[in-house]
Amino acid sequence: MRIVPGQVKRAQGTSLSIVPIFLLVLCVMGSMALVANRAAMRQEAFELDREKRQLVQSLGFEAENLLASVSRDEGLGELFQSQRNKDQSERLLGALNRRQASDYAALVSKMDGQIAAESGESETFNARSSNIRQLIETSRMRGLDASMIGIGREARVLQDGQSVLTLATLPIGRTMILVVIRPLGSAGLRRLSTMLAIPNLRFMPGASDIKTSYAIPNLGGQEQLSLVWNPSRTAAETLADLAVFGFFASIAIAIIALFLFNRMRASTEAILKREAKASHEARHDPLSGLPNRAVFCDALAENIEDLPNRDTNIAVLLLDLDKFKDVNDTYGHAAGDKVIVDFGNRVRALLRQTDVIARLGGDEFAVLQRSVRTHMETTRLAQTIIDAASAPFMLDGATMRIGVTVGISFAPDDGMDVATILRAADTALYRAKNEGRNRFALYEHRMTEAERMRKLVDDELRGAIERDELTLVYQPQVHSDSGRIASVEALVRWRHPTHGIISPATFISAAEERGLIVPLGDWVMKRACYDAARWPGLRVGVNVSAIQFRQANFVQNVAQVMKDYGIEPGRLELELTEGVLVEDADQAEAAMMDLRSIGVKLALDDFGTGYSSLIYLRRFAFDKIKIDKSFLDSMEATGESAILVHSVVHLGRALGLEVTAEGVETEEQRRFLQAVGCHFLQGYLFSKPVSVEAIDEMLKAEREQAKGSTLPPASPKTAA
Ligand code: C2E
Ligand code: CA
Ligand code: CA
Repeated sequence: MRIVPGQVKRAQGTSLSIVPIFLLVLCVMGSMALVANRAAMRQEAFELDREKRQLVQSLGFEAENLLASVSRDEGLGELFQSQRNKDQSERLLGALNRRQASDYAALVSKMDGQIAAESGESETFNARSSNIRQLIETSRMRGLDASMIGIGREARVLQDGQSVLTLATLPIGRTMILVVIRPLGSAGLRRLSTMLAIPNLRFMPGASDIKTSYAIPNLGGQEQLSLVWNPSRTAAETLADLAVFGFFASIAIAIIALFLFNRMRASTEAILKREAKASHEARHDPLSGLPNRAVFCDALAENIEDLPNRDTNIAVLLLDLDKFKDVNDTYGHAAGDKVIVDFGNRVRALLRQTDVIARLGGDEFAVLQRSVRTHMETTRLAQTIIDAASAPFMLDGATMRIGVTVGISFAPDDGMDVATILRAADTALYRAKNEGRNRFALYEHRMTEAERMRKLVDDELRGAIERDELTLVYQPQVHSDSGRIASVEALVRWRHPTHGIISPATFISAAEERGLIVPLGDWVMKRACYDAARWPGLRVGVNVSAIQFRQANFVQNVAQVMKDYGIEPGRLELELTEGVLVEDADQAEAAMMDLRSIGVKLALDDFGTGYSSLIYLRRFAFDKIKIDKSFLDSMEATGESAILVHSVVHLGRALGLEVTAEGVETEEQRRFLQAVGCHFLQGYLFSKPVSVEAIDEMLKAEREQAKGSTLPPASPKTAA
């Protein structure tokens, strides 16, 4: 399974998502149109109602006006007096008609409805007179006074449906009624039309069922004529305006929506692209572009899960470049980067489409090989990878050779979960490295305890210092004569949370290999000086690794620590091995002189194990030699060693050095060493390395014993 860079998922349904926007716009505009339409309808109905009411009112008002003007007429007074004088009355009525622009006026008797006098245009009146008479008759029958007035304030069709008259009646005195009639002709209608703002007011025969009509009954109450007009179209006009506005608003909203939508889509796409890039970056090594550890583990987990469905295995190959650090140190990081990229490409070219290569970090790569039938397939791949790595890398003109070491594990053989398989491959890698690098190793279930421990040290020691899992124990060196404590040697222990106490014999060399010895040594130095404060006057020995000793600022550091913890000169004793001296003897000599000058004592540790050249003793300014335990061990077996030990002690003494014998386990050894003049003894016979509290106890016991004894109290100086 080749892991390809994540693809940008396109915003799906891009075209679909514009539909709801348009639907929304449509809905909004639609409901706005509905509301507008309803409002317009209501407005129109209201308008119609108003027109009708105004019309009716105005018709009545016309009659009222007529009546009012008649009653104001000054000639009427005379009319009352001479109501029986027909000629005069008719003259008066004629004058009234002219003034009032009425057609007809009559004086009617209240009692019998007889017309006492009348005046009017003969042709119009004659045509209507019968109607007038009928009207007067009807009114009289109904009780002339009140109802006449009522009739007079309405518009009535008086004749054949051709015209309408406004009729006004006025009681005159106790016996007479004045009836005045005026035609509502086309001029009158036009006037009404403008006055009421009701357009095109006109008569239509018969009753009309259109809304904009007002039926006018004849005297019998039947409808004979309708007054019709054109409805005012304010609502329709508003609607039309609204429609125009709505149309443009819709277009504007649609354009804005489209613009916003495009903006949104663009930014969504940008976000998706960024996300895809981020997720690619999160899953890939930026330098080589290869998948990273997380991706590799995911792929591995996926393949393990799938294993039961297959009859093949999967293999994990962990690749670690050899001498990669040299590339960086010699040619710089840019060159190192190029090697990483080139190497990644070379390996990738060797893999099948279904295999995965990942960069785990630094110069570590991993390959997941799928569908493996025999281990041979994997070892063959490992060998081709090693061969590919051994071809020179071109770096700006220079060629550079590196190598690669490969650790291999298989699933399901070596485990069925990611962690176990990776650990197995890592263990195999570790073994391959120990066997000399530029090779591969398969994970074997039976790894030696030592290998396992060394691996643990590699993996966890740095964290151990940070987590304060280290501790110091102290082993006394006693005066061979008195058996009293002369000094203590600080020995480091690692209290591992799961593996328990781990001996420095296991992890010191690993710490040296991995560059952890300096922080470890610093910690030990400080801790020992801190503990030394408990034991005034007692010398404290601290083991110093060659690597630590060669640090440029080592002497300075020691001086600083001594100052910080108030260690008096002569109380700190550094135990150095020959390893310190072999590499750069001059520098070592200088450092030793400096250390001596600040009052530090120097012991040559493990004497008798290495070259054990006596030259060291002559050239370098040691204060003490510590004869190694192996020396004593062989002494038991052969008499020769006893002579050697004897002569070493003698030599030491002759050179003015203190001599300590390490690993003293038997009374026999003690007696011998005491006899040959060895100053100090250290070993399980006296005490194992113990805690600070245990040393406190020992010193306390000694002091108490001294009180009751005649022996002088022990001090390191008295022993020399
Ligand atoms: P070393 O400096 O030679 O320390 C003496 C070792 O011999 C200690 O082992 C001690 O426990 C052991 N020993 C003492 N008496 C007897 C005995 O009677 N019988 C036997 N069988 N063993 C005895 P340890 O503590 O495991 O230390 C091992 C080595 O680790 C030390 O050898 C020293 O080289 C190194 N080491 C310990 N602590 C430190 C440290 O703080 N810094 C450095 N650089 N090295 C350390
Ligand atoms: Ca030592
Ligand atoms: Ca030693």
